[in-house]
Parts: sequence; structure tokens; C-alpha cells
Amino acid sequence: MSTRVGIGYDSHRFAAGRPLRLAGVTVPHTHGLVGHSDGDVALHAVVDALLGAAALGDIGALFPDTEPRWKGADSAQFVRATLERLGPLGLAVGQVDITIIAERPKLAPHIAAMRAATARALGVEPGAVSVKAKSNEGMGWLGRGEGIAALAVATLARTSG
Ligand code: MG
Repeated sequence: MSTRVGIGYDSHRFAAGRPLRLAGVTVPHTHGLVGHSDGDVALHAVVDALLGAAALGDIGALFPDTEPRWKGADSAQFVRATLERLGPLGLAVGQVDITIIAERPKLAPHIAAMRAATARALGVEPGAVSVKAKSNEGMGWLGRGEGIAALAVATLARTSG
């Protein structure tokens, strides 16, 4: 059985007056992330990792921010729409590993919920999803707390063909 690997990266700017959505969870904070959808930078990185593993392009091409139906969308919808493209190709999610880089808020209390929500969106066991959080040690735009970035790696296993 062959395994395919993809990497995803995303970053979004903070804005006041928006809920902060990260890896499918609403995290209490003074600011949320700007985006046409809910701005869930972690799930966007996951979608790009899945699309990368399948060589299917990227999230901007599949879910353009000019599309009215994605306005304010729960980013779990992007994950599910991506899975619908993988299934017919005989590709299933193996595992996903996410790193979220945020100076604040502290994300440790939310890791378990983020793993569970991401696993639910992916249709896999929570044990197949890793979520890690790091600060940027005060350096650069991430260190100044201007926004949040996320990296994700995903593996796909061939189920048929
Ligand atoms: Mg994004």
C-alpha cells in the first residue's frame, strides 16, 4: 500500500469582534481571525495538506474567497468537501499533524477539544490527529500577536486502485 504525504501552511490576521476559530473549536479571546470563511487557520492548513498529498491543487483554487456560499462558512465544510474529492480517487486520510503558532491566547487548555473536532471533521479517530501549539518567542509579526499561523502534514492511504 502506498502512502502519500502533503504539507499545508496558512496565516490569518487578527481582528476585534470576531470569534476565534481554531481546529474546529471556538477559543475565547479578545480577537478572532480575519477571513472570508470563519478564518480557521488550522483547518485551512489541514485542507492544503490533504490537497497537497493528493496533488489536487490548493484551498484558494477549490474554495475561492469570491464565492458567496463560503462567506462565514465553518471551515469543517472545506474539510468535508475535500474528503468528497479524495474518496473517488481511492484515497483515505491516514493521519494529520498540526502545529499552531500563536503568541496568545494560550492554547494548551484547548488541545484535546481541537484534536476531537478535527478528527470528527476528518472522520478519523482522535488518535490519528495531533495538534501542537507554539509561541514565536516574541519575534516578528507572530511574536507581536498580529495574527496566527498554522502548519499541517497529512498522510493519505490508497484504499483501492
Ligand atoms: Mg486561510
